[in-house]
Amino acid sequence: MSKKVNLLLILVLIAATVLAACQPAVVATEAPVVTEPVVVATEEPLVITDTELNVLCTPQEEWCQGMKQEFEAKYGITVNYVRMSSGEALARVEAEKDAPTFDIWWGGPIDSFVSAKGKGLLERYDSPNFVNIREPDLMKDPDNMWVGVYVGTLGFATNTNWLAEHPDVKAPTSWDDLLKPEFTDQVMVAHPSSSGTSYTALCTILQMRGEEAGWEYIKQYAGQMASFTKSGAAPAKFVGQGEAAVAIVFSHDIVNEIDNNQMPLELTFPAEGTGYEIGGQAILKGAKNIQAAHLWYDWAISPEGQALGPKYHAYQAPTVNGVELSHPELISEANLIDYNFQWCGENKTAFVDKFTNEIANAENLKQ
Ligand code: PLP
Repeated sequence: MSKKVNLLLILVLIAATVLAACQPAVVATEAPVVTEPVVVATEEPLVITDTELNVLCTPQEEWCQGMKQEFEAKYGITVNYVRMSSGEALARVEAEKDAPTFDIWWGGPIDSFVSAKGKGLLERYDSPNFVNIREPDLMKDPDNMWVGVYVGTLGFATNTNWLAEHPDVKAPTSWDDLLKPEFTDQVMVAHPSSSGTSYTALCTILQMRGEEAGWEYIKQYAGQMASFTKSGAAPAKFVGQGEAAVAIVFSHDIVNEIDNNQMPLELTFPAEGTGYEIGGQAILKGAKNIQAAHLWYDWAISPEGQALGPKYHAYQAPTVNGVELSHPELISEANLIDYNFQWCGENKTAFVDKFTNEIANAENLKQ
């Protein structure tokens, strides 16, 4: 028997002994029942004793549910997730910092992850899959506290039935168009205290116009709203249903409403420039299921993990090489600003407080 085979046998025997001693619980999923803990093929075989993973999930429910099922089928580890918008997620992580419920936070614009890093809420992880990242300088924290898992651009969704009833009005193609009298009480966006989407819009304006003129614009823009919602993607749905004329949302959410829910919406981008998100993920400080969290983290920045998005109607662009963009036009047709995630993240609490206290409170938000 060769030395290599001998070594492998010894490792397998050691693993089997450890496994027999630990006897971790095994979880039933739709996949064949796993009767032993996961052994991941690395240079030194790694025995995973975690049997569950608690995920704080910020993207749309359908994608969260899909990723849970895919991960469970692949690794035989139960995933418990709660879907929360970015602002709620950040508040929850902060409130639970001494006894975190969640092991990993997946999705939502990285402004919130930058803010969480500043508050000491994240755990460093040097993933071997960082080699996959398309633009590491932009899409990964220099201290490896977070990494990007998708990219999305901000756009406007206008109800085409409403446009047909208002033949003199065109779908907005600039931020200034939103202030036109025909759109008074006809615009919808989420509230930046709960929603990362809405915070991306707010910080886009502040960067494009400077703080003084930016806040002045934001005051007028807030006056145009029919209402604010809690979740970032909800305005596209409400506008599709005819509750207002225009929604400010991520463009992939607009495509989802048009393609999968047959909503009468037209997608436009502000020609002078629009903001974008890098959706992030991070391991939370004090995570209990750290091995399982590492597995998810690596998988979420693998081509295999990122190729799953469109299957669950998530049309964001990937952050890793080796995956085709499902909707390249959402990037190529948008005039993207050089969004400063660091500045927006560091100022998130202050800007959201200013908006909430001086412009529009967060009471009575629509779902
Ligand atoms: N859902 C989708 C599809 C998203 O792209 C994003 C952005 O990352 C979110 C939800 C984030 O939600 P929210 O704006 O409610 O924080």
